[in-house]
Order: sequence, then structure tokens, then C-alpha cells
Amino acid sequence: KRTVKDILEGYKKVLHHDITVQGWVRAFRSNRFIALNDGSTINNLQIVVDFENFDEAIIKQINTASSLKITGEVVESQGAGQTVEILAKKIVILGDNFSEELQKTILQPKKHSLEKLREEAHLRFRTNLFGAIFRVRSAVSFAIHEFFNKNQFFYIHTPIITGADAEGAGEMFGVTNFDLNNIPRDENGDIDFEQDFFARKTSLTVSGQLEAETAAMGLGRVYTFGPTFRAENSNTTRHLAEFWMVEPEVAFNNLEDNIDLAENFLKYVIKYVLENCKDDLEFLDKRFAEEQKQKPEKERAKEGLIEKLEKVAEKRFKRVSYTEAIEILMNSKENKKGKFQFPVEHWGTDLQSEHERFLVEKHFESPVVLFDYPKEIKAFYMRLNEDGKTVAAMDVLFPGIGEIIGGSQREERIDVLKQKMKEMHVDEDELWWYIDTRKFGSVPHAGFGLGLERLVLFVTGMTNIRDVIPFPRTPKSAEF
Ligand code: ATP
Ligand code: MG
Ligand code: MG
Ligand code: MG
Repeated sequence: KRTVKDILEGYKKVLHHDITVQGWVRAFRSNRFIALNDGSTINNLQIVVDFENFDEAIIKQINTASSLKITGEVVESQGAGQTVEILAKKIVILGDNFSEELQKTILQPKKHSLEKLREEAHLRFRTNLFGAIFRVRSAVSFAIHEFFNKNQFFYIHTPIITGADAEGAGEMFGVTNFDLNNIPRDENGDIDFEQDFFARKTSLTVSGQLEAETAAMGLGRVYTFGPTFRAENSNTTRHLAEFWMVEPEVAFNNLEDNIDLAENFLKYVIKYVLENCKDDLEFLDKRFAEEQKQKPEKERAKEGLIEKLEKVAEKRFKRVSYTEAIEILMNSKENKKGKFQFPVEHWGTDLQSEHERFLVEKHFESPVVLFDYPKEIKAFYMRLNEDGKTVAAMDVLFPGIGEIIGGSQREERIDVLKQKMKEMHVDEDELWWYIDTRKFGSVPHAGFGLGLERLVLFVTGMTNIRDVIPFPRTPKSAEF
């Protein structure tokens, strides 16, 4: 079966032949021209309907959103903007189309707000915008696998249901098979987890890192890429309760290797999209430009979407230590004039996204990799530096996004690890298996986590993370 994409790109092979194509109507002009789309590409295939040859009843039934199977001859197009069209000989209407209800949905051909499109997330796949976004999302995912495959990584699948909750304090979704109307309790009235399916407390994973680390201790280079869950109580445009995370973990790598890997990885994926999603990117680029025009001049992006991607794919990312970044922030005009919501007052404070975006968008005008953070504001497993004050952590910050990647070299020394766990009140018994890997041929290793949706936001020029995942889960919202 030929897709619309096959026909548009390979029409020379079928020119003047009869072929069959199926799709949905995007537009039906003058009862004569159907723009047909089947999702394979952003481009529509023009169908010319010589209505004298067709039953009027059929023609009348066709409207936007109709699903059709059309057989006809492939001819070169006379019209501007397209190379090929189909002269319809046979049209079959494939399914129901409730034309009155259609008028009330986002499939009615007019401009709808992104909010409205979100409310009908089950229908938005049919729009040009969401077709483009999800084709790009698919290409990004494929490029991720390709990058790791080419670099001798193994794709491992870390568990979705996990017993370890070391990292996710307060952000875990519990998992149980208890009947929630009849939860078993012990004599003290506490929930009796002994009677749970797993006979313990379990939750949905907030990161596959700890398990991926153990895999890297045997397989060398691994990555996990799967759904990740965090009960984020903040309602931001950068956080989802369910998102997809990519987490490579590499034995024998230090922090610098890890930063190199992150930079090469991001550039590879962006280049892949530039090369393989040209039509969709052009559409998104135009949309982006139109959106910029609506903004006050000061807030407009300086460059187009494609231009921005090409630049990021080429230029070396700026690498800056946390200490250096704090100096820059403390001495900035913005900080001195009280322009930040959270003033930067001393070494040791955690950076907020306003600070990250200042560094990237105003100060360096480049993606930035920050490294060597104070140990107090980072997780227990990050490797303690010689100074005893900082850890070998790194965050990659992108324009318009803020943090896109967070990673570190991991603490491979058992005594230091245990000491850190004690200081940070992480339960040693619960992570006995993690600690165990430091006992038998422990080696330096490093890895990072990338939120897939943040990268898709960046490459599509979209601004709300709810618009780059098919069915977003956010506080008070899991309709579909
Ligand atoms: P943030 O500071 O933005 O909350 P984080 O530091 O909590 O992120 P990490 O634990 O470092 O996040 O996770 C690694 C990556 O996963 C982040 O850099 C980001 O790209 C992505 N990520 C984290 N939380 C979310 C979320 N709730 N929704 C979507 N992506 C997320
Ligand atoms: Mg967070
Ligand atoms: Mg962070
Ligand atoms: Mg982080």
C-alpha cells in the first residue's frame, strides 16, 4: 500500500498509472479539489474530482475529516505548489463522519488555541501542527537509539515498578494492588504492606539511573529510555507527571567524558532532525516566526527555529563551573537591580530556571554546561571532588528551556558513598544492592538523564511541554 509520502516523493514511478490511496480530507474546494492526508507527511496529496463522473450523493457526503479510499490516475499537476495529483476514478467513503458534531471540534478548519487542542488531545493528531510535532518526536526517539547503537551502547530496560525511592522523596507515585476501599491495616492501624502483592512499599520509577549503573558495571555502556513518573506539584510548562527519560550510564567515564557524551549526543539528534524532518521543520519554522511576530519586539527570538538548531548543532557548548556562574549571577545588573525573583546572594544556593536562562540567553548566548556544584544541593550518588565541597555534577542548559540534561560522575568509592548517604539521610539497607556494586571491582563511571520532551520542545519551537507528548499528565489532569 502506498502512503501519500510514497506518492509525492516517488511519483515518477507511477506517473500515468492508476493507483489507490487512502486518507482523510483536509480540505474540499469547489466540490472539485480534495487535499488528502494520511499522516505520513505534512504535505497533502491533491485529488481532482471530476464531479460529473460521480454520484452526487457521494460528493455531498464528503467534508473535512471524511476518510476516503481513492483510486485514480497519477498525473503531473498544473497547479502551483504541487508536482503531482490524482484524477479520481473511484471514491469510497470509509467511515462515519458526523458532520454536525464535527463543527464543534478542533477538526473544524479554523485556527484553534493550543489550550483548545489540548482538550481534544484525541483528535489533535489530525492537525498539521500535531502531525508535525509527533513525527518529529518519533524522529528524535529514533535518532536517540541510533546514536547509542552506533556508539556501542546496549539498550537496557530498567524497572517501571521499583522498590528504591532514594531519589524521589515526595515525588513518588505509590503502586499497590490493595483495594483502596479496604486497605489492610495492622494492630497499630498502619497500612500493612506485608499483605501487598510485593509485600513491600513500591512506586513508579522516578529515574532508572541506579539500576542502569549496576548494568553498566557489567555491560560497560548502557542506556535506558522509558517512561518516568514524578508527582511534581508545580504546574509549569517544563514538567510532566509522566515523561520519557533517556539515561546513559558508562563505565570508566569521568565528568569530562560525560559532558562530551552529552554534547555529542544532543548535536547528533538535532542534526538528525535537521536532515530527516525538513518538511515538518519548515512548517514549524513558519509557525515559530508567526508566533514571534505577535510578541512585543523585546521578547522576540533573534533567530528562526531552523537557524537556531543549525547553530546549536555546530557551536561548542560553553562550559562553566558553578562557582564561575555564581560570580556572574551575583555581579549581574539584573541581580543588583533586583530583577530576579530569587536574588543570588551567596555561593551554595541552588539555581532557579530564571538564573539558568539568564546565563544561556543573555550572558553567554549559547547552550551552557554547568559543572562542579556544591554537594549539598545535589544527590548523594554524585562523586565528591578533591575540594570536599563540590561534586562532579553537570547540567546542560538550553535557550528557552533551562535544564535539559542533568548528570554526574558517580561516587564509586564505598566509604565516601556510605558517608554521603549518612549525611543525606539515605537508607543504606534499602540500597544494599547499589552499595554492593562498589565492593566488587568498582570503577569510575558517569551518566546523565535527558527529558525527551524538553528536547522535543527545543527542536519544535513549542513552549508548553503539554504540547509535545500525546497525552499529557499534569496535576489534576489525566483525562485520556
Ligand atoms: P528540574 O530542575 O527541571 O525540575 P530535575 O533536576 O528535577 O529537573 P533530573 O532529576 O536531573 O531533573 O532529571 C533529568 C532530566 O529529566 C532533566 O534535566 C529534565 O530534562 C528531565 N525532567 C525532570 N523532571 C521532569 C518532568 N517532571 N517532566 C519532564 N521532564 C523532566
Ligand atoms: Mg525537578
Ligand atoms: Mg534541576
Ligand atoms: Mg537535574
